[in-house]
Amino acid sequence: MTIAQVIVDVPALGTDRVFDYGVPKKWEGIIRPGMRVAVPFGPRSIQGFVVDLKEDTDVEKLKDIKQPLDLAPVLNEELLNLGHWMAYETLSFKISVFHAMLPVAMKAKYEKIIRRTDNSAILLDDLFEGKQKISWKEAEKRNLLPALHKQIENGNAEVIYFVKDRARKKLKKAVRVNAGIEELEELLQTLPANAVNQIKLIQFLLNVSPDTIETSILVKEAEVPTAAINALIKKGVFSELLMEEYRDPYKHRDFERTEPLELTNDQREAMNPILQSINDDRHETFLLYGVTGSGKTEVYLQAIQEVIVQGKEAIVLVPEIALTPQMVERFKGRFGSDVAVLHSRLSIGEQYDEWRKVQRKEVKVVVGARSAVFAPFENLGIIIIDEEHESSYKQEETPRYHARDVAIKRGENHHCPVILGSATPSLESFARAQKGVYHLLCLSKRMNDRELPPVSVVDMREEMRTGNRSMFSTELFEKIKDRLDKGEQTVLFLNRRGHSTFIMCRDCGYVMQCPHCDISMTYHRSTNEMKCHYCGFQTTVPVECPECSSSHIRYFGMGTQKVEEELVKLIPEARVIRMDVDTTTRKGAHERILDHFQSGKADILLGTQMIAKGLDFPNITLVGVLSADTMLHLPDFRAAEKTFQLLTQVSGRAGRHELSGEVVVQTYTPEHYSIQLAALQDYQRFYNQEMTMRKIGSYPPYYYLALVTVTHDDLLQAVTVTEKISAFLQQNISKEAILLGPVASPIPKINDRYRYQCLIKYKREPNLLSSLRKVLEHYNKQTARDGFSVTIDINPYNM
Ligand code: ADP
Ligand code: ZN
Ligand code: ZN
Repeated sequence: MTIAQVIVDVPALGTDRVFDYGVPKKWEGIIRPGMRVAVPFGPRSIQGFVVDLKEDTDVEKLKDIKQPLDLAPVLNEELLNLGHWMAYETLSFKISVFHAMLPVAMKAKYEKIIRRTDNSAILLDDLFEGKQKISWKEAEKRNLLPALHKQIENGNAEVIYFVKDRARKKLKKAVRVNAGIEELEELLQTLPANAVNQIKLIQFLLNVSPDTIETSILVKEAEVPTAAINALIKKGVFSELLMEEYRDPYKHRDFERTEPLELTNDQREAMNPILQSINDDRHETFLLYGVTGSGKTEVYLQAIQEVIVQGKEAIVLVPEIALTPQMVERFKGRFGSDVAVLHSRLSIGEQYDEWRKVQRKEVKVVVGARSAVFAPFENLGIIIIDEEHESSYKQEETPRYHARDVAIKRGENHHCPVILGSATPSLESFARAQKGVYHLLCLSKRMNDRELPPVSVVDMREEMRTGNRSMFSTELFEKIKDRLDKGEQTVLFLNRRGHSTFIMCRDCGYVMQCPHCDISMTYHRSTNEMKCHYCGFQTTVPVECPECSSSHIRYFGMGTQKVEEELVKLIPEARVIRMDVDTTTRKGAHERILDHFQSGKADILLGTQMIAKGLDFPNITLVGVLSADTMLHLPDFRAAEKTFQLLTQVSGRAGRHELSGEVVVQTYTPEHYSIQLAALQDYQRFYNQEMTMRKIGSYPPYYYLALVTVTHDDLLQAVTVTEKISAFLQQNISKEAILLGPVASPIPKINDRYRYQCLIKYKREPNLLSSLRKVLEHYNKQTARDGFSVTIDINPYNM
């Protein structure tokens, strides 16, 4: 008998235990590793992944697999092994890793159902309205649960769970033409003259001679009613079938075909070692370091072209928010229908269909956000990570993986190059390149020798001193007006949405905090509400101070909404468009805003970091950064690095084309090295300075980090458990490692749960992962019972 080893979809189990299930005779040879199956688990039926097959088992009361959920494995052997590796490296459970590797549609939903077991119980007929089963939801709605509970106790009914697979294909009706020309002509002779439509349809078939055609298209093209098609189906001219229809988000867009450009000498020098690696089927990681506009993307495109010529496949990762229509256009323009696009703004169905194109080998290139690194290609020739320093490559929920690590692992598996591209590489990657672990490639000049735009740093303290209390410095304001006069465009950047950052009582200093989180609430003018950006809590704006009843409540700080209002007030003739989380919740809003701006329907684009990426419009000649300090003062060892990256990135938006551009950066700390060096666009010096800071602080890239966070409703419980974990870890690490904590997390309470943490800084700790695994498994079992949650983040990005 064949036994399947299955990892079940019960995250609360808190282990990677594999369960044995029998493979029913009829599915022997069909059920294989990497397939999803529905299996009985307690009273329920749940989804699981077959990870292996074997011949026998010790399990006494072996249950059988209920049903396969796929016709072919959804995880091939390489991806299954990658999943095991990832679960180990990121301290995640395999089930969560497998889900992360697949489109959302493949995560089953469970439907709770009450089914009658005793058909003779007449009493049940009413409750079930004569049917065999009723959904739990409906029973609840109709207030039947108490009555049904009794029946369940009496054994007349039972609760079951159904695995509801959401990976549904969209099907459309089609017909296949069975009759040949002679048969059609014969039929034409025998049809009565009043069968006008059938005659018309046959004549159409004779003219066009399609093989298989979608029914709705046939109706339109042949100009006949469906009845005529049905009549010919009866006569055997057609047979009916269902065709899979892809839900293609780009169906209605035409992409202009582009040809490869003649590479510059710099580009060719960067390209050669990449081609070498492709030709030799040899894995190597390249760091392609080049300022924005230096021609990195063209290098990617031509490397991919070579990969396609060799019959291999390519993955291109870009940050989620950089996946603009412009970016997609460059790849679709070069490779047309060979490209699938994967990101989270697509609907679940669209994501599934794009993924299916990869699985069915109908495309050669995937362009996508983080999770596209799992595209189920079997013959990868290259993996590219653009803007490799971006935080969005690190998943912030379990499994907490970094796409860069996964890409390199897959590059090893497939013996292919991995290219990390950036104008401001992460310190980790640049340090590796310096050591020779990665192969450093440089593009030092912007295309056409266009200069990087000059950056002027404005000291906002000086503005205050000279009496300017506006959020715009005199210099920035004058320049915005100047661009308006010239009909050129301005991008304004502020890393904070909402209206004012916080409200404060002038008399007693009270600041409104979220009652559920240790964080101040943000004022939103459009809804006139205070919002917590962490838990979503909303409340009305107080008219008087809750502490001292003073009415001197004032708004402080600024968010994008407030800037928009100010602009409208100060320059009424300016057409302003805003892009932030609040204006882009609707599907396609992102694209619409950019189209609007690109077509010149707005003069000023105002937004959060969303606009820092990928914008490439010829008419932008001014970029203003309203407050460069917002990120600098976060309790985060990467604050300087993030500030430098962001400022560099934003500056890169100006003057990319014929018109030259300039950048104005407003700040209260103009002396800070990350601002100074970003203004000088001097990455190398920034790198050196920041490496010194990291060395002093024992931070990456000198040390790796492991962050353990414990949350609980009760502060004391959270502290106690964190102490226990710290003590355990202290005994299991070497003297070289540094253990910090327990301490309260930077935001000590979120959503009414207290957060405590300890942090380990280490260089080489071969046993650390297994010690941490013990912690995780121990407390995960306790989680459900005692309300703890323990998370472990290896190399956390935001902390
Ligand atoms: P990056 O990805 O580094 O920002 P791009 O590849 O987007 O740079 O190149 C910047 C601009 O220069 C684009 O408009 C691109 O079409 C153009 N470009 C790139 N390579 C060449 C080349 N070899 N010859 C002419 N134009 C080029
Ligand atoms: Zn007060
Ligand atoms: Zn909150």
